[in-house]
Amino acid sequence: MLTYLPYGHHWIDDEDIKEVVKVLKGDWITQGQKVKEFEKALAEYTGARYAVVFNSGTSALHASSFAAGIRKDDEVITTPISFVATSNCILYSGAKPVFADIKEDTYTIDPEEIEKKITPFTRAIIPVDFAGQPADLEKIHQIAKENNLVVIEDASHALGAEYRCNSQLSNWLKVGSCYHSDMTIFSFHPVKLITTGEGGAVITNNKKFYEKLLLFRNHGITRNRNRFINKDEGHWYYEMQTHGYNYRITDFQCALGISQLKKLPKFLTRRREIAQRYNEAFKNIEEIIIPYEKPNVKSAWHLYVIKLKLNKLRATRRGIFEALRRENIGVQVHYIPIYYQPYYQELGYKRGLCPVAERYYEQAITLPIFPRMEERDILRVINTVKRITARFREKEEVLV
Ligand SMILES: *Cc1c(COP(=O)(O)O)cnc(C)c1O
Repeated sequence: MLTYLPYGHHWIDDEDIKEVVKVLKGDWITQGQKVKEFEKALAEYTGARYAVVFNSGTSALHASSFAAGIRKDDEVITTPISFVATSNCILYSGAKPVFADIKEDTYTIDPEEIEKKITPFTRAIIPVDFAGQPADLEKIHQIAKENNLVVIEDASHALGAEYRCNSQLSNWLKVGSCYHSDMTIFSFHPVKLITTGEGGAVITNNKKFYEKLLLFRNHGITRNRNRFINKDEGHWYYEMQTHGYNYRITDFQCALGISQLKKLPKFLTRRREIAQRYNEAFKNIEEIIIPYEKPNVKSAWHLYVIKLKLNKLRATRRGIFEALRRENIGVQVHYIPIYYQPYYQELGYKRGLCPVAERYYEQAITLPIFPRMEERDILRVINTVKRITARFREKEEVLV
């Protein structure tokens, strides 16, 4: 039997391991220089002023909701087609997630739907750069400016992605440059673009947000004597000035992150090559809709999602999914609309809320894509998908 090909996989080499071991043999395995070095490297890579690293993308999202001042009874607009962490961070702040539908072509949040959902209680928007393709950041920025909202961009899928403004003369902007977002979040979970095991980051150009993020990561504690509220009582003295958590990441993880970031350009090139191969292979298959990459975007291709034209197939999405799994193709579905989850249903969200997202969910299948895939893996995916679609193809005689 052929080995199982997962939808995503990390790539850690001996060089990465050497960097981690160096830290493990040293004096500071947490809160040493590597944290600062990784933050500096991320700020340099994205071109933004500040980076704050966290022990997960989820804690990075939580911290940015705090920094944005999201509070009880606020509303925050986000997409239903994401991992639950995106909207959970709104719940952590006591606020209410408001789901706006996605666009038919890119599966990212629809700016027109955002506008419909704005109320006097809206405080922020959390778009997701789904599958690695930046959301309509320029339009979302415009809406946010007009309505005095904060934009927290969940770029867990999109480290290394780029986009251009609609004015064709604009330069390519890197996701994380925070040109259109107040804060950008990355995740370093092993299936993402680079990994630290678990880990995440918030990137921002805003000094106030930056300082709040630092406080939040460490119990709300500061040791900066210039910022003390009460009298400085001596060298032992620190102040807890707001609520916060232990969301710190270790130095050995940051050593891995620094080393991985150096390989990101290579990883991205490979992901783009694989996506190109799939596009070529599937673009003429009548039953498959290949992902649409906008002309003003360079996706990071975290995911490669196909949509099935179910009316042309003698099978359900589940049938196709299971047939692929039986051939050891580790397909997945990204994502179940968040408000379908029992917890969200209990909060009162109803099915039917975002019809485009719900239809998308019925049809979507994620195929394996990760930089370490070899030529024979790519061919195996292409051939298996072709064979299985042909097997379930609606035949003329069936219709008669
Ligand atoms: C992975 C992911 C997260 C959460 O990141 P973790 O590092 O796993 O906590 C949040 N949002 C999206 C869209 C993700 O894909």
